[in-house]
Amino acid sequence: MAWDFDTDPEYQEKLDWAANFVREEVEPLQYVIKHPNDMEDPIRNKLIKPLQQKVKDMGLWACHLGPDLGGPGYGQVKLGLLNEILGGAGFAPIVFGCQAPDTGNSEILAHYGTQRHKDQYLQPLLNNEIVSCFSMTEPQGGADPKVFKTTAVLEGDEWVINGHKWFSSNARYAAFLIVMCVTEPDAAPYNKMSMIIVPTDTPGVNILRNVGIGGDEDGTHAYIHYDNVRVPADNLLGERGEAFAVAQTRLGGGRIHHAMRTIGQVQKSFDMMCERVLSRETQGELLAKKQMVQEKIADSWMDIQMFRLLVLQTAWKIDKYQDYMMVRKDIAAVKATMPRVFHDVAANALMIHGSLGVSNEMPFSRQVIESFHMGLADGPTEVHKVTVARQVLRDYNGTNGMFPTRHIPALREEAIKRFADVIEDAVNA
Ligand SMILES: Cc1cc2nc3c(=O)[nH]c(=O)nc-3n(C[C@H](O)[C@H](O)[C@H](O)COP(=O)(O)OP(=O)(O)OC[C@H]3O[C@@H](n4cnc5c(N)ncnc54)[C@H](O)[C@@H]3O)c2cc1C
Repeated sequence: MAWDFDTDPEYQEKLDWAANFVREEVEPLQYVIKHPNDMEDPIRNKLIKPLQQKVKDMGLWACHLGPDLGGPGYGQVKLGLLNEILGGAGFAPIVFGCQAPDTGNSEILAHYGTQRHKDQYLQPLLNNEIVSCFSMTEPQGGADPKVFKTTAVLEGDEWVINGHKWFSSNARYAAFLIVMCVTEPDAAPYNKMSMIIVPTDTPGVNILRNVGIGGDEDGTHAYIHYDNVRVPADNLLGERGEAFAVAQTRLGGGRIHHAMRTIGQVQKSFDMMCERVLSRETQGELLAKKQMVQEKIADSWMDIQMFRLLVLQTAWKIDKYQDYMMVRKDIAAVKATMPRVFHDVAANALMIHGSLGVSNEMPFSRQVIESFHMGLADGPTEVHKVTVARQVLRDYNGTNGMFPTRHIPALREEAIKRFADVIEDAVNA
């Protein structure tokens, strides 16, 4: 009997250490540091670097990576359990060396990078000496990469890149961008594009503005104009026309890592909700006694449990098959479920806290907006639901009959024929 929901005691000790460390040392950082990726901020560097060393000493640095790249190679289930803890604190991923989008970008460099790429970009990225950006979406289309227009043309031994990219998160702090460009305009739609490394300080990389989400005045999602940007020909990642395969390398892992961290965030909101209903009285009784409040507690708890099991089972399948493509349906299901659970739990917590809940003195209104972020970044929910449905339907066939194969009258007739002797004996007895 192989189903087992226990964590081995040795790893549980590490998780307990991480939970305490995140609560005591990491959570306060978000109130004194503006952005975890701002490598120019002296306060950030002074406070974060010693904590990163403590994580390394505990063997919990870059847990998404195998030993060949400097991580412990725990696999996705153990990573999931750790990420649940990290998700509860905004600065925890950078302290533990597993922050997006660097995690996905490092996977790309590890798979497709040359030795030069690895020395110049991957190693400093893994050491968090630099941070990176993935620059794919364009203003005229994000969910459909077939409409991308940014081109890269080979001139001598250089790519010359021209075009606009939108919502390139983190570009303002990044040392380099991984840019998806049309290099094969005459090829089939999914073979037109290639992935190219562009150092952010290359002339012609113009950040037109940094877009914020929700009420952010000062955002981190760059609108970039690539204006005759020249980079060496060997900055190409993978083969020409292979951008989709390269992108998949980062997206499979990236999507489930977001989901693991989301569990941590929703669990925290849930904890706050429970504390509130047991503290606040109205009309002579605790909120916890009101049935419609109880419904919010029950719905939120059930959603979190179901989502968590789906995420951990998907992580387990990735460990088992070692191939994201074989777990595509599950990852898409996780990605599509994540924004709904995040939204519903945050909205319940917001409502339960009343005016305090909607204010900027609690995290819930921001989380509601963040839930839409989760539903868009790495592809909209609708597209992932399409993937789930297509993959599910591969295991089914239609019928040529006029009625479904499980049509009750036909099943009944078949059963009566099959058991005719028994029925006849019983009637005649
Ligand atoms: C916070 C945040 C961070 C991001 N970071 C990055 C980043 O670092 N790098 C990067 O390249 N991109 C990034 N993105 C962009 C993200 O990948 C796109 O927002 C996403 O792919 C959707 O593209 P779009 O916004 O252009 O929406 P559109 O493609 O215009 O889609 C709009 C809406 O149409 C509907 N829709 C679209 N396709 C379908 C379909 N097939 N079936 C049914 N309905 C559909 C959905 O409701 C969808 O939300 C980020 C986005 C956000 C919100």
